[in-house]
Amino acid sequence: MGKIVDIDWGKLGFSYIKTDYRYISYWKDGKWDEGTLTQDNTLHISEGSTALHYGQQCFEGLKAYRTKEGKIQLFRPDRNAVRMQESCRRLLMPEIPVDKFIDACIQVVKANEAYVPPYGSGATLYLRPFLIGVGDNVGVKPASEYIFSVFCTPVGPYFKGGMKPVNFCVSDYDRAAPHGTGAAKVGGNYAGSLLPHELAVKRGFADCIYLDPATHTKIEEVGAANFFGITKDNKFVTPKSPSILPSITKYSLLHVAKNYMGMEVEERDVYIDKLDEFAEAGACGTAAVITPIGGIEYKGKLHVFYSETEVGPVTKKLYDTLVGIQFGDIEAPEGWIVEVK
Ligand SMILES: *Cc1c(COP(=O)(O)O)cnc(C)c1O
Repeated sequence: MGKIVDIDWGKLGFSYIKTDYRYISYWKDGKWDEGTLTQDNTLHISEGSTALHYGQQCFEGLKAYRTKEGKIQLFRPDRNAVRMQESCRRLLMPEIPVDKFIDACIQVVKANEAYVPPYGSGATLYLRPFLIGVGDNVGVKPASEYIFSVFCTPVGPYFKGGMKPVNFCVSDYDRAAPHGTGAAKVGGNYAGSLLPHELAVKRGFADCIYLDPATHTKIEEVGAANFFGITKDNKFVTPKSPSILPSITKYSLLHVAKNYMGMEVEERDVYIDKLDEFAEAGACGTAAVITPIGGIEYKGKLHVFYSETEVGPVTKKLYDTLVGIQFGDIEAPEGWIVEVK
């Protein structure tokens, strides 16, 4: 095992720290080049780049984990690769082959091995693959050239001093249109969420809940995370909709609930006026794994699930099991772990 840089891992948040190397590959004349590692963390692109004007870009987020034995591993990077291909198809961008995507992630982790936090710190190395349309252009059309890049930054444990439930309010804004880009991981969805997020925070909430854009009756997303609830008869329930971003954490929790915890699982509509069916609720995504939901404010009333201060037992067990798998303490399902060596 190589040297690890000297960082106060416990104090680390979710912010950009420049690491030594990033991967970059160019698409020109209809094909991707070999790709290379570079120390330059800036991009020099045409002022006409479609990524700048028309939002022709997408991104991914995944983590590298250091195990008890000091090994480094990625969690389901093939799922991120496939999801990026889906985003590319939606925005008419050239797809990155799955192998090239995983190879780029491995190269970046290896080159920045010293930044992979030690086991036990709770911190991880966050990878940010992204793909942007570049080149001289001014009209609304797909770019003629593209850049695929992967950078990384160490991030701290999301919950310092243990998991804490937080409250959410319901937004009047939509994050996606009924047949829009909600299922694609594209920057435009996020630009539109900055204002509703700020309004929620100003009112004392962690973030807002987005309802389905067509009827405003069903839960779709919790800020930039997927929703799940544990029913009073112990089923794991998560919303199903074509405008929800398909969270890899959510699909992993569905598997954990079913196969590690013996629970029944359901992907179906979750109505905002039927929150009473749940004993516990949470938001899930790569950054925090699970954020327990204390309560949801809807039409001026706060609906509290398990507790505003304590994490429910099923939520805790789901979290511990999935994190155990990610850090190599619990045996993973076939194909979920890719060792970086
Ligand atoms: C990335 C993302 C998620 C979480 O997906 P994971 O694969 O679990 O990290 C959820 N919602 C939105 C809108 C996202 O962009």
